[in-house]
Amino acid sequence: MSLQLSKSLYDQLRSHGEETYPHECCGILLGRSTDSADGEPTLTVHHLIRAGNTRTDSAHNRYNIAPQELIAAQREARKQGLDIVGFYHSHPDHPAQWSPTDFAEAHWFGCAYVITAIEKGTAKITKSFLLTGTSEDTKAFSPQPIQLL
Ligand SMILES: [Zn+2]
Repeated sequence: MSLQLSKSLYDQLRSHGEETYPHECCGILLGRSTDSADGEPTLTVHHLIRAGNTRTDSAHNRYNIAPQELIAAQREARKQGLDIVGFYHSHPDHPAQWSPTDFAEAHWFGCAYVITAIEKGTAKITKSFLLTGTSEDTKAFSPQPIQLL
């Protein structure tokens, strides 16, 4: 299962993290999940929604999307015939690897969690992790290839 998006969306997602540096950025990915030839669904991103980071206690290593923003994103997705297929955020001066907090706060099964490492204000590596499993007991992050369209 891969995550597909255009170079333009990919660049937008990465530059968002450069703009908010040294704080984390976060946002929502709207798109479609489709079955590919090998039977593994592919997530295709069609639209990005920037979210304001509501974490004020520790905005450099925590992110949080307000429920109102999530609801607005769902409404926008439905209007465009899309679904929420993932979330993205940045790691200022930290590797593009999920943290225990990222894992604990991830609840959208089958969705992509995209992390971009921002080093000294410049976007470096971007990685995507698919949240697999069906419950809090079976959930796991599985590295997912990013394909640029
Ligand atoms: Zn994180």
